[in-house]
Amino acid sequence: MFILESLSNYAKTDRTALIYGADSLSFAELERQSNAFAAYLLKTFGADRTPVLLYGHKELSIPAVLFGCLKAGRGYVPVDTTFPPERVRQIAEEVQPKLIVDLYGLGLAAETVLDGAALRQILDGPGEACRETWIRPEDVAYMLFTSGSTGKPKGVQITAANIAAFRQGVAPWFDLDLDGGVFLNEISYSFDVSVCALYYALSRGMTLYTVDKQTLNDPKRLFAALRESDIDFWVSTPSLAEICVQSEQFCRALLPKVRGFVFCGEVLTKKLCGQMFERFPSVPVLNAYGPTEATVLVTAAQVLPAMLKDSRPVPIGYAFENVEARIVDREGKTLSAGEAGELLLIGDSVSPGYFKRPELNEKAFFLDEATGKRGYHTGDLCLIDQGLIYYLGRLDGQVKLNGFRVELEDVENNLTRVENVARAAVLPVLTDGKVTALTAFLLLEAPDGLPSLQRSKKIKAALAKTLPSYMIPRKFVVVDAFPLNTNGKVDKKALAATL
Ligand code: AMP
Repeated sequence: MFILESLSNYAKTDRTALIYGADSLSFAELERQSNAFAAYLLKTFGADRTPVLLYGHKELSIPAVLFGCLKAGRGYVPVDTTFPPERVRQIAEEVQPKLIVDLYGLGLAAETVLDGAALRQILDGPGEACRETWIRPEDVAYMLFTSGSTGKPKGVQITAANIAAFRQGVAPWFDLDLDGGVFLNEISYSFDVSVCALYYALSRGMTLYTVDKQTLNDPKRLFAALRESDIDFWVSTPSLAEICVQSEQFCRALLPKVRGFVFCGEVLTKKLCGQMFERFPSVPVLNAYGPTEATVLVTAAQVLPAMLKDSRPVPIGYAFENVEARIVDREGKTLSAGEAGELLLIGDSVSPGYFKRPELNEKAFFLDEATGKRGYHTGDLCLIDQGLIYYLGRLDGQVKLNGFRVELEDVENNLTRVENVARAAVLPVLTDGKVTALTAFLLLEAPDGLPSLQRSKKIKAALAKTLPSYMIPRKFVVVDAFPLNTNGKVDKKALAATL
């Protein structure tokens, strides 16, 4: 596999693979530690290929665990600490891992559970490189759990071949004459944008400058880290840059070496592009797009000043060379250039499907008869004009909030499990076409007599047990009855009008 080849090649150099605070890890160490982890897996679990579940955040030891899994021919499931314990347990129950690496002492059950100290011993232990056991192209390399409309997260399976296709597709866009250099590594490993750092940047011998969530949430620490980072290449959600541009410090002087910004994962506003052009003159800004189900990114384009004057939104880009982007109507008929419809993606980076979700797979994925390749229904409303794809919104209840993917039904289902909540409807609050918060409308089983602030606090605390904080609505509005539309469903448009 290309990433494992690259790691061995760079292990012969004196390059640094990772920096996290005052600590760092060379490519040679990453190679040695991932070999040691692979050796441990092979010795302890033999030929078993059950994926390893890893619960952690941005610890320096994580990449060695992930690559060690691949070297031992099995996949991994990274679960970030943003997931509350109950959600982590749901994931573990579904995956049934034999081995869990639990860096935060969550008390998860499996045949073997390694804590930080036990992991350290293994990583410091022996292990020779052994290519025969490396993961095969058709094997699932990782599984990422995203919000699922049933109220439980769903696992997107990504094979080694999918990752190779992603890398091939993204290479021309990320290839800014970089050899080495520093790459921003701030996305949790359980979200797919982190794959850019792990699989693209490291395979180009770059150093991942790691920023954890405590730093991201503290502007003073964040700017100190950015100043120290000397970043060459920046990939993030627009939301992170939106926080940064609030400070005048976010400019060329802070990141004098930066050669490119790639924004992805959610709507990139013209306002942010304009601010980036001002603060970082002549540094290319790219908008890139892709769902987890088609391996991180499938389109990209440099944002040009003229695009900001266009009445249309900033385009999400051109389809990568190895991806076909097709726009279809509700009946599945291919539409012509300029017509809006659902975006289908077809190519080698499309996932083999969700883990243990045959019905969902039937709906979301298909085999394209013309090419024999797998396809995915994105649920994104788009149009293509002269090869450039424009994102116009969602066709369902999935939204992006601060870069996080949220199924509104997931929040609704979890809300109805809260005591005294009979029914719930969750709506996105939009500012400049971007979701900035969620509001929940609730029908209670019985009047609770509580002032709204107290009720909100109570419901938020109950939700925090099952949902990550980014999925918790900001506001709760109690209604006596839901407005219904003609087919008897909650009329969300009518509710939205009251926001
Ligand atoms: P995820 O699987 O978390 O990466 O979420 C994928 C979804 O995020 C896509 O289907 C889009 O709805 C949205 N998305 C990703 N990139 C962009 C972008 N550049 N502009 C607008 N929406 C985006």
